Amino acid sequence: MTFGAIPDGLPFAPLVIIRLVERVPVRGAPGLNTIPSWVHTMYSLTHSLIIAGVIVSILFYINTRVGIAAGAWILHIIMDIPVHTQGYFRTPFLYPLSDFAINGVNSLKLWAVNWMILILVYTFI
Ligand SMILES: [Zn+2]
Repeated sequence: MTFGAIPDGLPFAPLVIIRLVERVPVRGAPGLNTIPSWVHTMYSLTHSLIIAGVIVSILFYINTRVGIAAGAWILHIIMDIPVHTQGYFRTPFLYPLSDFAINGVNSLKLWAVNWMILILVYTFI
């Protein structure tokens, strides 16, 4: 199972499917005003360390190996925080307690480092 894909997959996969079915052309990142509010809500829910922490803890309690794998969800959120800006899908990691988010740096180099760390961590776990 790809727990690391949950934070982005849950909110955006249904949107992509809907747009494909409706034959809405998708090129690049869509404007925020074209994205339905339920996507923003799902994004906040899946990018919350509080919500992910509770779910991953429950999974860890039920099955340690699944819980460790589910840690990819938390790692995704932690690594999103510095690479998302306030202007486009910031990371509300304290949601629903707070909408606080760090104004990160949208940099291709930082994003590449982000992915390299993810790959290294999950190669050796
Ligand atoms: Zn994300």
